[in-house]
Amino acid sequence: MRWEAQRLDVEDTSALPGMPSIRGLLRSVQVPEFPGLTFHEVRARSALNAVPGGSSMPFPYTVNPYRGCSHQCVYCFARRTHEWLEFDSGRDFDTQVVVKTNLVDVLRKELARPSWDRQHVALGTNTDPYQRAEGRYRLMPGVIRALADSGTPFSILTKGTLLRRDVPLLAEAARQVPLGLGLSMAIWDDELHQALEPGVPSPRARLDLVRALADAGLPCGVFLAPVLPGLTDDEQSLDAAIGAIAAAGATGLTVIPLHLRPGAREWFMAWLRGARPDLVPRYERMYARRAYVSAEYRSWLSARVAPLLARHGLDRQSGGAARQVDDPVATGVPGDEEVGFPEGSLPTGGLPGVRPPDEGSPPAPVDTGPAEQLTLL
Ligand code: SF4
Repeated sequence: MRWEAQRLDVEDTSALPGMPSIRGLLRSVQVPEFPGLTFHEVRARSALNAVPGGSSMPFPYTVNPYRGCSHQCVYCFARRTHEWLEFDSGRDFDTQVVVKTNLVDVLRKELARPSWDRQHVALGTNTDPYQRAEGRYRLMPGVIRALADSGTPFSILTKGTLLRRDVPLLAEAARQVPLGLGLSMAIWDDELHQALEPGVPSPRARLDLVRALADAGLPCGVFLAPVLPGLTDDEQSLDAAIGAIAAAGATGLTVIPLHLRPGAREWFMAWLRGARPDLVPRYERMYARRAYVSAEYRSWLSARVAPLLARHGLDRQSGGAARQVDDPVATGVPGDEEVGFPEGSLPTGGLPGVRPPDEGSPPAPVDTGPAEQLTLL
């Protein structure tokens, strides 16, 4: 989505002083309940985004209610997408949140088209649908109802405990359509959590959410991500994390090391230089040529994690099988292109939304505008 794609034939009269005047913007608001945040309310022309053909992601469509994210993760690699909106990828990404206020109406129209083939729609692939803005705009209940009513399987990936508000609705939806729920969490040290993901609910609060989902009979796959080399990858920390996630009732778990794509790299390395200068040479070596850690590190982490998963009974999930691959990899530490989805995070019940790899691009239901970058949380 770019501002141009949000164009309306209206005058832009409501920009705050100092804000760029942007075509398509309905208004920008700051409210006392959300100090430090500015919400830019736009009217979206489309809701469903077609995933580009050839993507390894196991879903053909995404829906993103918000752009920018008040969870403020320093390592977030959706940051750069904010530059498409004429904002910067740092403070603006954290505080200037674009809200597609008419999303539910547009989505309902698109889902009602005879050509809609009810394939898997993923939420939370760019920025978090349960970030703080959702407390004000309450878009997700309408999205969930629209997808369930239309018979569309869907999945939600989040770090936001606000999802708890919608548990009854999700339980109802799970009776109508295949549903997947994913939570990501990785940083358990309070100080590190505050430094690197200051707007995210605490890991303990997210564990409580895993429990609440399990109690409601809903699936919940956990991404132990991102694991930070030299910071959170010691055996004791991983063991404690995996044990806590298993005890909370997660249906599956995948471990993913930090990626440092442009847009996230600058911010993360700036933090590292200030907080842990001793680790800078190691990170520069590890991420010198690419955004992903080396195969050696992935193998090392896999070997470290495998016995811990076995110890806590999380080695028997079928994350690989859920993606309909011949050689299911229960879990482990995959590279970005073959990211493993923990059991429960993709729609269960036949997985009608999983696109076979050779099927090519699905038919676009609407003029989707520029494809949105996929950035798993
Ligand atoms: S990693 Fe996810 S939760 Fe964190 S800022 Fe990015 S989109 Fe938000």
